[in-house]
Amino acid sequence: MSPEKPAQKEVVVQGIAASQGIAYGQVFVYLRSDVEVPSYQVTPEKRIEEVSRFEKALLVTRQQIAKIQSEVEKNLGKDESMIFDAHLLVLEDQALISETIREFETSGANIETCFDQVSRRYVQAFSQIDDEYLRERAGDIRDVAQRVLQNLLGQAENSLARVAEKRVVVANDLTPSDSASIDRGAALALATDSGSKTSHTAIVARSMKVPAVVGLHDLTRKTKTGDWMIVDGYEGLVILNPSEQTLFRYGKIQQRKKSFEQRLIDANRQPSVTLDGVTVPLMANIETVEEIAQVKEYNAAGVGLFRTEYLYLNSSIVPTEQEQFLAYKTVAEALAPCPVVIRTLDLGGDKPVAGFTGLLFKEENPFLGFRAIRFCLENPAIFKDQLRAILMASVHGKVQLMYPMVSGAGELARANALLEECKAELKSRGQPYDETLSVGAMIEIPSAAATVDLLARHCSFFSIGTNDLIQYLLAIDRGNDHIAHLYEPTHPAVLRTLRQIVGDAHRRNVPVGVCGEMAGDPVFAPLLLGLGVDSLSMTPSSLPQVRFLVRAMKMSEARELAVAALAMDSAREIYALCDEFYRQRVKVD
Ligand code: PEP
Ligand code: MG
Repeated sequence: MSPEKPAQKEVVVQGIAASQGIAYGQVFVYLRSDVEVPSYQVTPEKRIEEVSRFEKALLVTRQQIAKIQSEVEKNLGKDESMIFDAHLLVLEDQALISETIREFETSGANIETCFDQVSRRYVQAFSQIDDEYLRERAGDIRDVAQRVLQNLLGQAENSLARVAEKRVVVANDLTPSDSASIDRGAALALATDSGSKTSHTAIVARSMKVPAVVGLHDLTRKTKTGDWMIVDGYEGLVILNPSEQTLFRYGKIQQRKKSFEQRLIDANRQPSVTLDGVTVPLMANIETVEEIAQVKEYNAAGVGLFRTEYLYLNSSIVPTEQEQFLAYKTVAEALAPCPVVIRTLDLGGDKPVAGFTGLLFKEENPFLGFRAIRFCLENPAIFKDQLRAILMASVHGKVQLMYPMVSGAGELARANALLEECKAELKSRGQPYDETLSVGAMIEIPSAAATVDLLARHCSFFSIGTNDLIQYLLAIDRGNDHIAHLYEPTHPAVLRTLRQIVGDAHRRNVPVGVCGEMAGDPVFAPLLLGLGVDSLSMTPSSLPQVRFLVRAMKMSEARELAVAALAMDSAREIYALCDEFYRQRVKVD
């Protein structure tokens, strides 16, 4: 770290760690203000030109947002980049555009004035709607409208774009159009008053690979442009005017982290084998065909979970059998001979799908509602299109099929009966499929966990979806911030359930993997392996850290860890035990 000497008192502010890394530099405080819109009349002969100025501004805005979206997609994946879809949709909103032009034709006022008025009316109308999703659209419209106005007025180079030297950008929050303005080389780190781990700022920072801390409340009032600041994206801290001692300490931490990251990169190409010689298959979770590149880059042993709902979410109509076949075939072929587990549709409930209008309905308790396999069994035509597409792809690689949200053996038997119908249909069409295709079930509902022995009669592998299993076991909505602290993967009930699932499955010679977030967390991975889990599937970028840990531990130690954890009576104690196991092996703080 450079030895710049701050004169003022050191202030430490705790926020939420949003993007890993440590940075030290001078602050640039960015406070957003609404664009000032001049108002004047446009002469009749200039009217055509005025409308084309508007169309051009819409186009430029679209290009700016699409650029950052594709950057985020490239660096973080499709899922994260989808937050920009809502903004792009605003620019395509025909009602907003034609109303602006109508206003212009009747009033003759300049197009900025008309667009400003119409978009404000939209923001006002959306912010009063009694539906959280639609209310959030008000923010999207406001943000995009400001950027269109800046482009119309030639002010797109706002104050953020003027940050030319490396600075720590401090703001209330950063909207997508703010982030489109930041010069990628200029931001050393981001620190914002509001935001969560999944806010725009956090996603953009991770995509830009710069450290970020969000949720710092009133940081913008505590600091000013030119101050010196450390941003610690590991611990979620910012340190204003750090002392010499703090700078020295952080210099050391940064060195250690850098050398640890290098060790992770080195481990990435090594086999995933424990010190006592047990091979642990480490697989990838993917959502789109584009992620094949990451599966290869991170050296995964295959795809343990292909979440297919994204094919449906990205389309305004239900994808056809042929469209799905092409997507599944591409993945199977690219990764052969490694296995690819394709999970059938897990939609419904809280995830509305444009193509399914009329098939899904608003529910009081969407997480306990008409979703996933329940929806598929009630809509056999849609389900069978997908099953046939998977069967057809199975001759192009090593495909396995998996049903989500299974709650009992009856459901599994019904799904398999439809699968048999599909096989017969393909046979009569003369279409080949892999006759040995293996079928599995996700264990993510407590009733499935309790009946693993019965489910084992209908399938040949299990994958535990800990994200949902924990939510249903502990009755904690996995997306609710207010109770997020109660969502405890190390709760004794979770451990006992995992032990029972693995035991019941292994007694019937059925292998069990884990594909929930726990599998990609190096603190929990040894516990899962110690409980007897056979493979782990995770976000591709988590593979190096889990592989590193697998290579640094003995399976016998993981088993002892699980025995010790099962004897404990609180989630906190178990977490501390797992954390200690992890720290001893990676020797990093
Ligand atoms: C899970 O529930 O753990 C899982 C992997 O499925 P999803 O996160 O897609 O619900
Ligand atoms: Mg799930």
